[in-house]
Amino acid sequence: MKYTVEPIAYIESCFPEKFGIPRQSLLCPSAVGKLILLPAFNQKEAVEGLEQVSHLWLTFIFHQHIDKQWKPKVRPPRLGGNKKIGVFATRSSFRPNNIGLSVVKLDRIEYKSDEQKGRQKNLQIILHLSGIDLLDGTPIVDIKPYVPYVDNVSDASNTMAPNAPEVLPIIFLEAASRLLDNVNVGKDIECADSFKKLICEVLQQDPRPAYQEVDSKRIYSMYLYDFDIKWNYRHDEYNVLSIYVVAIEEVLFKES
Ligand code: SAH
Repeated sequence: MKYTVEPIAYIESCFPEKFGIPRQSLLCPSAVGKLILLPAFNQKEAVEGLEQVSHLWLTFIFHQHIDKQWKPKVRPPRLGGNKKIGVFATRSSFRPNNIGLSVVKLDRIEYKSDEQKGRQKNLQIILHLSGIDLLDGTPIVDIKPYVPYVDNVSDASNTMAPNAPEVLPIIFLEAASRLLDNVNVGKDIECADSFKKLICEVLQQDPRPAYQEVDSKRIYSMYLYDFDIKWNYRHDEYNVLSIYVVAIEEVLFKES
């Protein structure tokens, strides 16, 4: 049987590129996004009752991978990136059907309308989300409420990933702090402090591919909103591997 799915929405996210996106949802509570319902599904009736729900299950398409061939064995970061395991035992984004599943927090529902000549027009329903692990533009195929009494399985176990991954300490070099204080807070970034929190939550997960050795000369870079965040790895004075944020630069993305 073949079955075609049609996206019902898409995501506007703080992550314009794949590198650095948290490896699971809820790991970075400050990672926010907007779910924009597409015209055929953009109806008040369809979201009625959702205001009673704190978290959602989203099913989505790993749209940046749809041209990639899946393999039965993958190297998940949780196993150090050098051990292979069956794709169905992992949450890898390279899989048959390219379907992803994330629990996210529903912060609020916005009913946005352009007022034209005193009349309300073009209602757009926007779900404001946080804790996302989704690339900007991700197509959403379904939304379901998280139901704690069934979804929160108290005796569940996964011996491959028993606990949340360890996080690294983050140190902002003076130049980076100065740049941060002067960021142009705009429509998406509330203030320099909340942006700093997002940078810390994302970087402390250590976005580096798991198998890479520490090379203190290497500068890594990822985008958050319209900013290029640059960092490197060094051992601090107590010999603890730490992340040093070296620069935060505004970039202008070209319209594609
Ligand atoms: N919680 C989901 C996703 C886990 S994989 C699930 O379990 O199915 C998370 C990774 O997917 C992120 O680190 C990011 O690199 C990747 N990703 C997120 N959105 C994507 C998209 N639209 N296309 C391709 N990869 C994506």
